[in-house]
Amino acid sequence: MLDRRHLLKLALAAAVPGAWRSGSALAQPKRAADPFTLGVASGPGAAGGVVLWTRLASHIQADIERASNLSTELYISAREKAPPPAPAIDVRWELARDESFRTIVRRGTAVALPELAHSVHVEVDGLGVGRWHYYRFLAGDAASPVGRTRVFGNGGATPARFRFGVASCQHYEWGHFGAYAHLRADDPDAVLFAGDYIYEGGPRERRFRTHPFPSARNLFDYRMRHALYKLDPDLQRLHAHCPWLLTWDDHEVSNDYAGDVGEEPGVDGAARRAAAYQAYYEHMPLPAATLVQRFSHVRIYRRVSCGALAAVTLLDDRQYRDRQACQPAGRGGSSIIDDEACAARRDPARTLLGAEQMAWLARTLEQGNARWNLIAQQSLFSQLLRDPVRRRFWSDGWDGYPAERARVLAALARANVRNPVILGGDVHSTWVCDVKSDFDDGKSPTVATEFCGTSVTSPASASESQFARAPVINPHVRFVDGARRGYLLAELTPQSLSVSLRAIDDATKRAPAISTAAAWTVADGKPGAN
Ligand code: FE
Ligand code: CA
Repeated sequence: MLDRRHLLKLALAAAVPGAWRSGSALAQPKRAADPFTLGVASGPGAAGGVVLWTRLASHIQADIERASNLSTELYISAREKAPPPAPAIDVRWELARDESFRTIVRRGTAVALPELAHSVHVEVDGLGVGRWHYYRFLAGDAASPVGRTRVFGNGGATPARFRFGVASCQHYEWGHFGAYAHLRADDPDAVLFAGDYIYEGGPRERRFRTHPFPSARNLFDYRMRHALYKLDPDLQRLHAHCPWLLTWDDHEVSNDYAGDVGEEPGVDGAARRAAAYQAYYEHMPLPAATLVQRFSHVRIYRRVSCGALAAVTLLDDRQYRDRQACQPAGRGGSSIIDDEACAARRDPARTLLGAEQMAWLARTLEQGNARWNLIAQQSLFSQLLRDPVRRRFWSDGWDGYPAERARVLAALARANVRNPVILGGDVHSTWVCDVKSDFDDGKSPTVATEFCGTSVTSPASASESQFARAPVINPHVRFVDGARRGYLLAELTPQSLSVSLRAIDDATKRAPAISTAAAWTVADGKPGAN
């Protein structure tokens, strides 16, 4: 068994340029097969710079094909076997001002460790704000695709404009990720991904396509699943196009998990979560500082600065939450709960973010002074009554933790946060809401604006009539659409935030058509969408 503390040390060392003395102990093979099959990616670094990511996986396509030819029993016995010993691999990287790498501003060598699935996380600081940089990796005689990245802002340096996509819920079995070709053409500065990057379940019938893997349980499974998703060419190209700001939701581990407890008692737990978190880190452009305590705790909540223009606060509402209130007997996960029958829902002691993250959020909001404050999290933040007569709520979202929502609103008010905008995903539908200081009092002030984006491929779970009723029962809901897949495109300037719903015609098409289905603006100083 691998010593995970040792592994964490390796991961931290591998991410620091120059910390590794590369030499004869590290393999530098000549490779016939392209090792850069999963593309490249970048994201904000821990110290105001960038993280450059790739993973060397020459044989992943063949591995997936081999897995698809195994029976479930053979697959399960194969995944329990220890992997054959593999060497660490030296990977050179270059960062340049231009796409053809004539003006290289940084270069170095990182090490791709077998313990981390030969992933590479390079952190580059001190780049300066605003200018696009181009990066690539070199191993043996192979070169990776070229990625583009930049630092958005810090301190006084501020971009005049920040354009970003909001995406969530890319389910392999429900379609291709062709929406991302359109998002790339919209030329965003960044992509904000709000969760459900993979779906962990086994293949199901009556979906658009299937994959060969049983429900993910261990590191082998989660690595395979991430690789399967990362092979999508439109996903790869969008990662190469610009940095991604990432948070996760439940399906990166398991449906509706809370803390380290999943839906299925007995199989879900701390070990499964640690395996899923490790695979997530291995496949994402995240700083090594993310790894707080082996892989049992991975800190992804953070704040990303766009200078004086904006700050993006990324929250994690999965890792630290209490279990959903009033769970059905014998299982974990969510349900629709009746407020009268479930007093636990309102228990102020129950937490969604965890006390530490909540305190960090309050502190961060107090210290910030950006003009726009984007709070990116997993789900629908505003209250959603599901029934005009009985107070019934879905227990997995913020409605299952109303005291925590009140604490977030109180923190926003206390810090007098300028232009708070809440962004999310998870519900496979588009929602625009006036965030009320008291959702049960329609006359209470609108204190923030919410845009909850639709899924890339995952279908909505509610019916058309349920969507149609929602704004009638919940007047603070200004717009809802359950029919469309796609993403939100947002553009920030000092004066306004404009958001449009970019809808694809069919998620099962490799190259779907795109249209703008709706558009809104939020004016500086005036919460609420118009
Ligand atoms: Fe989802
Ligand atoms: Ca979800």
